[in-house]
Amino acid sequence: MNAPAKTEEFATNLPAGVYAETVLSVTHYTDYLFRFTMTRPAGFRFRSGEFAMIGLVVGDKPIYRAYSIASPAWSEELEFFSIKVPDGPLTQHLQKIKPGDKVLMRKKPTGTLVLDALVPGKRLYMFSTGTGIAPFASLIRDPETYEKYEEVILTHTCREVAELKYGFDLVEEIRADEMLNEIVGDKLKHYATVTREDYPFKGRITDLIESGKLFADLGVPPLDPAVDRAMICGSMTMIRDTAALLEKAGLTEGANNNPAEFVIERAFVG
Ligand SMILES: Cc1cc2nc3c(=O)[nH]c(=O)nc-3n(C[C@H](O)[C@H](O)[C@H](O)COP(=O)(O)OP(=O)(O)OC[C@H]3O[C@@H](n4cnc5c(N)ncnc54)[C@H](O)[C@@H]3O)c2cc1C
Repeated sequence: MNAPAKTEEFATNLPAGVYAETVLSVTHYTDYLFRFTMTRPAGFRFRSGEFAMIGLVVGDKPIYRAYSIASPAWSEELEFFSIKVPDGPLTQHLQKIKPGDKVLMRKKPTGTLVLDALVPGKRLYMFSTGTGIAPFASLIRDPETYEKYEEVILTHTCREVAELKYGFDLVEEIRADEMLNEIVGDKLKHYATVTREDYPFKGRITDLIESGKLFADLGVPPLDPAVDRAMICGSMTMIRDTAALLEKAGLTEGANNNPAEFVIERAFVG
């Protein structure tokens, strides 16, 4: 029996604290990236930007991994943006899910990339690499983000151009949604860069911050702790280096119980 079939069997007798939801759609972007949606359990509450533990039954037991919820808090469906690690204990199976399959989810979402963890400001930066864009996929579709900030800047850095497609799809979907588009207006700026292919915007985000090119390209002033707020999600190295640059500019790291000027969340090692 494959993992989805075993998960379906497991779902007939679920332990407390676990949901089994039905996959609604799957979109494959590259050999290493895909997006999927599933039903949202009645009564499941989360704040845009949080993550949950999702899983499948592999062998004879469920295996869970942390996943940022990519859909906004108001959405009727739950969306995720996932890596496909060839030998990954979860994703070697998760990448094979199809509409109608079951995916497990633990009941308690959590996370630091939430609006409440930041003190008020005018401009919100979201710095992401790879699948680190997922929590921001949630936040850029949440009207509350635009109530709190005059400008929202989403940066997404990947190795190859094809890996940026999800981000462009998100912006297109916002534009196609009459209500959301009116709320977002021209407040959202999407800045996509690649490191390993030719592209109009090239390079690591840390280099682009340090050189000032990011700010020049966007037509915004350099980082200012009085007005700028930031969230970082991606590889460990990118988080460490970006956080160091924010601290150099005078921003301090916050948390749910201690809001400040920026917050981080490690999405993966490497
Ligand atoms: C708070 C948090 C939020 C996360 N959100 C997401 C998310 O929204 N989407 C997502 O795909 N993953 C996310 N992850 C990573 C996720 O938990 C798993 O690591 C991933 O799904 C791979 O699972 P696996 O069992 O197949 O392989 P694992 O054994 O978990 O990972 C194997 C190796 O693959 C690499 N790897 C794992 N995840 C990634 C990734 N996302 N990008 C690049 N390399 C990776 C790492 O080098 C890791 O050592 C998140 C992790 C944390 C801690």
